[in-house]
Amino acid sequence: MPRIFIDGQPFDASLEHTVMQVADANGIYIPRLCWHPKLSIAGNCRLCVVQVEGRSWVEISCNMPVSENLRVQTDTELVRAHRKAILQFLTLNHPVDCGICDKAGECTLQDYHVAYNGEASVSREPKVEITKFYSLSSRITLDNERCVLCTRCVRFTHEVSKSHALGVQDRGDYSVIRPSQGPGASPLEHDAYSDNIIDLCPVGALLSKDFLYKDRVWYLKATPSVCPGCERGCNIDVWHRKPEWALRSLDARHNTAIARVTPRDNPAVNGPWVCNKARDLAQILERPRAHAPMARGREVPFDEALVQARALIAKARRPVALVSSWGSNEELQAFKVAFGERFACFVKADHQPADGEVVADELLIRADKNPNGHTARALFGSAPVAFAPDTDLVLVWGEGADFAALPRGVPVIFLNAYLAPENGHADVFFPISVMTEQRGHFSNFEGVTSAFERCFAKPPGVLDAQGLFEALGVYTAREAVTP
Ligand code: SF4
Ligand code: SF4
Repeated sequence: MPRIFIDGQPFDASLEHTVMQVADANGIYIPRLCWHPKLSIAGNCRLCVVQVEGRSWVEISCNMPVSENLRVQTDTELVRAHRKAILQFLTLNHPVDCGICDKAGECTLQDYHVAYNGEASVSREPKVEITKFYSLSSRITLDNERCVLCTRCVRFTHEVSKSHALGVQDRGDYSVIRPSQGPGASPLEHDAYSDNIIDLCPVGALLSKDFLYKDRVWYLKATPSVCPGCERGCNIDVWHRKPEWALRSLDARHNTAIARVTPRDNPAVNGPWVCNKARDLAQILERPRAHAPMARGREVPFDEALVQARALIAKARRPVALVSSWGSNEELQAFKVAFGERFACFVKADHQPADGEVVADELLIRADKNPNGHTARALFGSAPVAFAPDTDLVLVWGEGADFAALPRGVPVIFLNAYLAPENGHADVFFPISVMTEQRGHFSNFEGVTSAFERCFAKPPGVLDAQGLFEALGVYTAREAVTP
């Protein structure tokens, strides 16, 4: 194992690593725009330069191999002058419209300008004007004036998502990112992972049309969560309004709405990527909600619904439960404790692939569109749903049940978060909270467990399923043994 010296400190390194990787691993930060740990090395931004001791020039560290006794300096006068010149060069034609840019607050170019340049533009020439709003897809707009041509977006579509959707067109001052016309290229519109290029872009050149001009990132908080879109269980951050910046006079719904979703890097699950379904989590979780318990379509107080449900469960001799594969590990365990002995339990798929959705691929997307079938099946088995002829009660937890296939004339207790016609048909209905209103864990198809945290308080009238199971289960266990 070769030993190298960075800023005079010795480090054991691997021959497979570059100087930048050794520096990163040992807490020495070298600025970079084009380099990314999951993409090939482009070496085009020239910001990551270092100086090898004894040489009078600088070299890029992202592509500098390790060798025995290599001695590099990351902060010499020459290195500082070079970084400053590069930043001056990059901002020559950059519009510096940070005040209206969605990337402001998390822009690498802003941060580097302050850290390594700090001076106004020295150019007296007018800036080159290029396209401000180039629509790359229904999801993404490109501002070519802000682009620093790092090619991260191009490399992502070639190396990770494999759509080959983007390329660099023309040369010099005329270079622009454009849809690729090359062989094997497909439109970014069809790239199920396209929105990762928004995160990858180190400046505000690639922007989400959905998020455009809606928020400033410093008003938002990122809460760790898990995408429920399939059994991969990608780790994500759900961004929402910080409580201290809650809106009072404007539309207060923004305070309890998902502003955007970004990946949370987890090498054991999703790495730094997610598919576009995670970005659209609000479309799943912010559907119209059920807010009141019901008995045969009539709104009733919670206590009355609880009494009726308890009575149905206490009376039943052959009850069947259809268990949600969207329940958290904690909820599933509570269900098992409350009903596992009394009910014949079957795990159901709450969600199926939607029309036009990529069903499965070799990168992340899995065919099972439910986040916690793994734990549900571990607790309740994998048998297909079946009803004995003398089934006398059905408890349905979550979406996806075929109500037409339930035994006729048998009472139904139904737990659902959303407005649905079936809510009013159930003998007893309970509105339950969704994952952004709870803390919990999902275990993905490989058994890797990830946590999600609460983003919002649950709406009035809505119950946590776990508490409901505990309330129903304790009572019914006592009732069942009391004739
Ligand atoms: S659009 Fe962004 S990611 Fe793509 S080349 Fe330009 S700066 Fe880099
Ligand atoms: S691959 Fe599955 S879990 Fe990951 S972001 Fe897409 S839908 Fe969500």
